[in-house]
Formats: sequence, structure tokens, C-alpha cells
Amino acid sequence: MAQSTANESERIPHACLICAPSAEAALDKARELASRAVCSGTGLLKPCGACRDCRKVAAGIHPDVITLTRAADDKGKQKQNITVDQIRALSADAIVLPNEAKRKVYIIDGAETMNPAAQNAALKLLEEPPAAVVFLLCTVRPMQLLETVRSRCALVKLQGAEDPEGPDEAAQELAAGYLKAVNTRDDAQILRWCVQNENIDTQAMAAFLEAVRLRLSDMLCLRLKSGRLSRAELLGLYRLSERCTQYLKVNTNVKQLFGLLAVDALPDGNRGNAID
Ligand SMILES: [Zn+2]
Repeated sequence: MAQSTANESERIPHACLICAPSAEAALDKARELASRAVCSGTGLLKPCGACRDCRKVAAGIHPDVITLTRAADDKGKQKQNITVDQIRALSADAIVLPNEAKRKVYIIDGAETMNPAAQNAALKLLEEPPAAVVFLLCTVRPMQLLETVRSRCALVKLQGAEDPEGPDEAAQELAAGYLKAVNTRDDAQILRWCVQNENIDTQAMAAFLEAVRLRLSDMLCLRLKSGRLSRAELLGLYRLSERCTQYLKVNTNVKQLFGLLAVDALPDGNRGNAID
């Protein structure tokens, strides 16, 4: 991951990865950076918010600030992925000079929804960016982007966003341990595991919960074996870990959360037996 972080006093790097807790927050930040990139105000403060370019960005009508998002299908429903064709079209457009501003800005909304082919096409673009172009990749799930894509971008991490480096090894081991305990479907074993591990601090707890969700996502996408856990149970665990993360944010103590993780791990009646 590039260490440079775009802040008010620096020039905008040619590619930024904006990690935010919500898609809206990421887009807000992207629009602010886009304004700064195209602002034609003469003062020191950029974006000035008053020049023609700033006002057009705010109104969403600047011809050199282009937002790419998942396309809609025939029925008007948003597709699951940003496709490689969309990125190719963007690449072709990126070599055309800006219309009005000194540079062009491409905002990729939900960058993690680029499928692997699209990410590889984007990677080529990031490796050899056309002159006078800024790419702003917005995401709430940075870990779903290829490492090679992430490492080409300067990181702009907003408060409350997932860590783009992902949870550390200790957190991942703990997550594997928890899901292994749940997999026994044995209340006593699950509880014992939770009691044994409840003495971690808040920060480690946050990383552990994130690691649990990543493993569950991998199981849901069949990248990891889920053992004796059904799909509904995996989803239930995912929601449980999300709930715990919310509780952690309002200062619920870690021991109480481990209590929840023990008691609510599996729905009543689903314990003791494997579901086939
Ligand atoms: Zn301006």
C-alpha cells in the first residue's frame, strides 16, 4: 500500500483508494477530491467552492468528472458487477483530453464490485495512467480488491472504514478458532472457547470481528470450506459479528460480546447435530 495519503496541502495523486464506512461517505469524499482536482479558483484554498468548476462538480454536471458505477440491466435493476467492458470504455475515454478543466477525474463507485477481469483492466490503467487524469476508487470493502490494485493507489481512509490491509494474523487465527468451535455445534465447547479468549482489548476485538466476517464471506462464496455450517447459519453468524461490531462502537465491553458470540452462535434447535 502506498503510504502517501492525500491531505489538504498535497497535490492529488493520480489514483486514490477511498475507504469509507458507507458508499455515500466514500462518494462525498470523492466529490471533494474531484473538486480540488478541477478547481479553477485563484485563492490558496482548494476546492474554493465558488468557481465555475467547483459549482459544476457540486451540481453533478462537470463534464470532466465522470462517475462509473454498476450498470443497470434491461429491467432497470443494478447489475452485480462493474464489467471489463465498462473499464475498457473508461480507458478509451481517459486518453481524450479534458473538456474544460485542467484534468479529468474518474470516480469508480463501489470499486470492489469490479469483477476480476475488470480489476485487471483497471490495473493496466493504474500502472500506466494517461496524463492529466485522476482515478478515485471508492469502496467499503477494500479487501475485495486485488492487492495489486490497492497498492497502486494512495490511501484515503475515512474514520470507521475497514482496514485495507485487512485484519492482522492474530485476529485471523482467532477468527479461525471461533468458527472451528462453532463448527463443533457443541454449546459447551463454544462457550469454553469464548471464555478462554475473552481477555483481548477493544482494538483486537474489532480486528477479530472483521476477520470473522472475511472468513464467513469466503465460506459463503465457497472459497473456504464451511464444514457443518449451513448457508443460513453462516449468514446468521455474519449478522451476529456485525451486531457485535456495532455494540463495540458504543463501548460494550469485550467480555459481554464474547458472551453473545457464545450464546447466539447458532439458532436454538440447531445445535448438537450437523445439518445435511
Ligand atoms: Zn473552485
